[in-house]
Amino acid sequence: MTSRRQFLSGCVLAAVPTLPVFANSGYAGDFDMTQYLKELKELMDIDSKSGHIEGANQIADILEKRFKSIGWTVTKRDCEGRGRALVATNTPDQTHYDVVLSVHSDTVQAVGNASKYPLTIKDNIAHGAGVADDKSSLNAVWWICKKIPKKAQEKLKIAVIVNPGEESGSPASRAFMDEQAKKTDVALVYEPGRPGNGFVRSRKGSMFLTVNFHGRPAHAGNNPQDGRNAVEAMAIAIPEIKAIASKYKDVTLNADVVKGGTTPNTIAEDATVVFDFRFFNDQTRDAVLEDIENLCKRGFAPDVTSELKYVAKSSALAHTEKSQKVIEVIDTAAKELGQPAPKWMDVGGASDGNRFSGAGAAVACAMGVVGGDLHHPEKEWSDMTSVKPRIELGRKVLELLAEQK
Ligand SMILES: [Zn+2]
Repeated sequence: MTSRRQFLSGCVLAAVPTLPVFANSGYAGDFDMTQYLKELKELMDIDSKSGHIEGANQIADILEKRFKSIGWTVTKRDCEGRGRALVATNTPDQTHYDVVLSVHSDTVQAVGNASKYPLTIKDNIAHGAGVADDKSSLNAVWWICKKIPKKAQEKLKIAVIVNPGEESGSPASRAFMDEQAKKTDVALVYEPGRPGNGFVRSRKGSMFLTVNFHGRPAHAGNNPQDGRNAVEAMAIAIPEIKAIASKYKDVTLNADVVKGGTTPNTIAEDATVVFDFRFFNDQTRDAVLEDIENLCKRGFAPDVTSELKYVAKSSALAHTEKSQKVIEVIDTAAKELGQPAPKWMDVGGASDGNRFSGAGAAVACAMGVVGGDLHHPEKEWSDMTSVKPRIELGRKVLELLAEQK
């Protein structure tokens, strides 16, 4: 094992990709791909599946050292069940942030995959467990902060927020993120960039909605007239609830899990259906929830009660007027750097950007290193030719935001 790791490590450092020539902007004159890869490997050698506390803590320790070495204030916060989160700021004041660079240290990769699928590079494409989601971007955020443009350093309160529970949240990690989000004006979320110079301006919010039905049991042969069938009420309810989605733009409601009844000769007393619910803004979310609640109050069959349950309301990452202003800043930064115009996308899956948006921050997502085949340990990839441009872009955006302040 040891010799294999050493061999691959040698390959990695020998295989520094040749980067395409971008306009010499001076925003990443310090960039050194050999050093970037060495630091990326340090993060990728650690298993950090959500809930693998030891891994999250090791990454927090590495980042603490890095950010302290550039004079930033670092605070670590234990998130029960997920390990330590980290906040690094360019000022000792951590009560308010003009701009947050949001990133996560956890992955979906099984413990053991760090050594089974280590960092390798072929034709400028990096592979390995967690390389795209989100370790290339975690390392890019570190590089952005190494040399923040002077104006941004002087005028902006900047925070790097590292969540150890993005892939699989816990009450503690969600509370931590919500607390950070409330202090934030602008959040640049360093999830992997999309192929084709893609960035994300909106993400659907998602919730699991459970509807419980309660009827009255009876013997199906002896006294069926006394029974009130919860399973049959649920069967009526599913298409009625699903139909609510068509009243609103870009809403989906899918009944994906059902449970109910006991034996075939018993009129079913209880039944449950769980819907996956997705929406593009929180007003629509509330309207749909109200519609479902009203249907449940009205009922679906005589004498069968129905009740809507969910853990907590989650938010969409909404494309708002405020976020559009940030998008325009990013577009301007790309233009001034001689980079191709960002392609802004609206997507279905959630990220930490949803939490920032829910708290009222202006959010731009997928700011990180371009990657794909996320969560597939053998295929996951990260495009190393996008590292330097995304670092330059991040720095330039901070400078422009400082100029606007
Ligand atoms: Zn991610």
